[in-house]
Amino acid sequence: MFYNSRFFYVMFLSYFRLIEKIKLYAIKMKKLIILTLVFLIFSCNGNAQKNNQKESKVYSVTKTESEWKAKLSPLAFNVLRNGGTEHAFTSDLNKNYGNGTYVCAGCNTPLFKSENKYDSGSGWPSFDKEIKGNVVFSSGSNYIYGIEEHCAICGGHLGHVFNDGPKNTTGLRHCINGAALKFIPENE
Ligand SMILES: [Zn+2]
Repeated sequence: MFYNSRFFYVMFLSYFRLIEKIKLYAIKMKKLIILTLVFLIFSCNGNAQKNNQKESKVYSVTKTESEWKAKLSPLAFNVLRNGGTEHAFTSDLNKNYGNGTYVCAGCNTPLFKSENKYDSGSGWPSFDKEIKGNVVFSSGSNYIYGIEEHCAICGGHLGHVFNDGPKNTTGLRHCINGAALKFIPENE
């Protein structure tokens, strides 16, 4: 009899403990779900903020797509803003050897000097050196297509740099779309 009552007592206790445990478990699960949701919401916002910071941090001249379209020729827009490439031997600047400065067609930042221009035979304006600090290079490009070059101020795509340039100077060939450039003669 003693054992029986003790047995029921233990059963009774374990039953209530079980109910309590289930209740606690339910509360914990609720908390976990809420925490997961909060974490997801914050991490999404965090990424969005990071992306925004990245975009606004790098370039000091920024415009909307329609503003760029209004400012640039269709070809310049395609090159600078969409990373396009003009057809070889089509740019007037390919065979231009006057003294002056080549500036960004998007934001007028001086990018290349005429003294660094040479005829690479590629059909695109070619330079062995950029104006330091005004051109940025993206590291994600591969060796076959060269390393991509951008205007450091507006982020416009200019062309690519290859390591088959003049050996007697830098050994680099900055292969630049003429549509991404404007030539400012020295005496102007
Ligand atoms: Zn620019």
